[in-house]
Amino acid sequence: MGVENVVFAIVFIAALAVFARRVYLLLAMVLLGQKESRLDRLKDRLESLAIYGFGQRRVVETPFGINHVILFWGFIVLQLLVNIEFIVSAVFPSFSFDFVGPTVYGLMMTSADATSAIVLVVAIIAIVRRAAFRPWYIEAKPSAYVILILVVLLMVGTLGIHGTSASMGLHRSAHLPVSRLFAASIHAFARNIPPSLFLRAFWWLHALVLVGFVCYIPYSKHLHLLTALINCFFRRLSFPNTLTRLTFKKGCVFGVSSVIQLTWKDLCDFLSCTECGRCAAMCPATVTGKALNPMEVILEGKANLEANGMEILRQRSFNSLEKADESLQVKLPLAGASGKGQITPEAVWDCTTCGACVEKCPVFIEQFPKLLKVRRHLVMEKVVFPPELITLFENVEQRSNPYGIAPAERDKWAARLDVVPLPWDGSAEYLLFAGCVPSLNPRMRSVLAAIVEILKMGGISFGILGRDEPCCGDPLRRTGNEYIFDRIARDNVERFRAANVRKIITFCPHCYNSLKNDYPAFGARFEVFHHTQMISAILGRGRSYPDMAKERVVVHDACYLGRYNGIYEEPRRIIEVATGSRAIEMRRTRRESFCCGAGGGRLWMHESRGTRISTERTRQALAEHASIIATSCPYCLIMFEDGLKDEGAQGEVRAMDVSELALAALRMPKNSRRSD
Ligand code: SF4
Ligand code: SF4
Repeated sequence: MGVENVVFAIVFIAALAVFARRVYLLLAMVLLGQKESRLDRLKDRLESLAIYGFGQRRVVETPFGINHVILFWGFIVLQLLVNIEFIVSAVFPSFSFDFVGPTVYGLMMTSADATSAIVLVVAIIAIVRRAAFRPWYIEAKPSAYVILILVVLLMVGTLGIHGTSASMGLHRSAHLPVSRLFAASIHAFARNIPPSLFLRAFWWLHALVLVGFVCYIPYSKHLHLLTALINCFFRRLSFPNTLTRLTFKKGCVFGVSSVIQLTWKDLCDFLSCTECGRCAAMCPATVTGKALNPMEVILEGKANLEANGMEILRQRSFNSLEKADESLQVKLPLAGASGKGQITPEAVWDCTTCGACVEKCPVFIEQFPKLLKVRRHLVMEKVVFPPELITLFENVEQRSNPYGIAPAERDKWAARLDVVPLPWDGSAEYLLFAGCVPSLNPRMRSVLAAIVEILKMGGISFGILGRDEPCCGDPLRRTGNEYIFDRIARDNVERFRAANVRKIITFCPHCYNSLKNDYPAFGARFEVFHHTQMISAILGRGRSYPDMAKERVVVHDACYLGRYNGIYEEPRRIIEVATGSRAIEMRRTRRESFCCGAGGGRLWMHESRGTRISTERTRQALAEHASIIATSCPYCLIMFEDGLKDEGAQGEVRAMDVSELALAALRMPKNSRRSD
């Protein structure tokens, strides 16, 4: 062992110590979070790790993602084929993997040769893309360049060492075409420099960059090399379509005001962000110029964790790996106006809870659920929220609907129809849960009428609650007023149980989601169906109604139906059967659908910053040159009708619920149908 080897050994051990200390502190910070079990369904978790962690399935969903996959896998392959051998032989020069035999070793080295060249090329492409073709949603941070430049230098070192040593007859493998070519080109430029000097230079370049990597990674965004895999394993295995039920007891704190009140998984999310910006590119608030950017939410959360976490850890013994006391006062609250290590209230309230960020994140970070936890704190602890919400809260609490309209008005839509058993007496198979917006908004009442008529045509036995129907509470839950939601949900579950309700049909996806996914935690034991599921079954497959084929129908997926509950096919089937043509898809459709702007309580709030989300989505629909924009949600319908007004397109294009299309088709005389 020579002096160089000893120096390398000391420097490398010091680098490992820096790495280990930082990783330990990060682990200690994550474990400050509150407990949450994520160890169920181990088989699914291992699959998730394989498919999304190592397989990078979500990364390749975007065109440039393949570059990242090559970089990721190239990096892993080179650790195994090159760097382990390099590090061990840097300390013990006689070490080599050639004990595996000349054929296998030759294969290993040739693979390393090709991989190094490929990684070098993709790293250069990534640098050029960032410098010259950077998408708007990626920030130009120096740290991204640092890591890419380190990768380039590492590859230069690898190719240089292999090529030069091969040309000097020192390498144990002769199968290194790229490295030989690389070294020959370099030597051609500097003929006076002896190859042995080149070899030392490449060797030290490689050694120092490797050391730099080990020290830099846990301090940079490339920490995600480790945490992204952890996140893919511990991810939520289904879409976060509900929230945790709270316990209302004296002394309890509600919502999240400080980073340590989040769970350990929330904190792990903060450390896993790759800063790819996919969530921002998907977010309707970011795209339309609001204060909210989900990537920034995560990065500010990380900064907040670093600031508060280090402070807490300094006051503890070094070997303490325990959760923090939830009531501990931290230096920097999570929500605050500074925006530095804080999530601004504007960002908290801009969120429509559409879920596009969660659906798109390659490492399964849960962005909007954190915002909802902060909303709970702002509403229930601080009583600080947009003033429009006071009216919403009072109306729902006092009149059981967001409009504050007298409950006596609630069943008027049904009285005019004279078709529905009123009120519910428990004898029907289904309860048609009309919902507040459909019952009280004149335009939505006509959709309800269409749904009722189709259900009647389909021979469905159903009833309604009439003026006794309550609000489902979704707008309160999604705006953080869990206290009132809790009472509503408990009362409703009791009411449904007393009325022997076993199956519920809803028009509104927000009611659907709340009854189906929120209510079970309150003891609900009933099945919930969306009207598109019922109507799709009634229309049946294979029938078509050609008189409507002249219509060009573009479909919009409601977030609470599609992303929240996976219902994508039924609305499309209804459109196809009713019109005889397939629905036109917008550029952003299905899982990538763009929100209408009304979810998460936003229907009841002013939208003063940037372009209106409904206008943006309407523009996207109008770009498809359709005559009808079809949706399956009263909120979306309201927003599209507003959007069409904003765009001056009401005369040419109509916004309709898919049930209205179905009814128009069903009402046609049988002989005008193509087949029946
Ligand atoms: S849920 Fe929707 S609006 Fe909220 S942060 Fe995510 S993408 Fe943006
Ligand atoms: S939160 Fe997820 S999608 Fe958003 S920038 Fe980070 S890794 Fe990318």
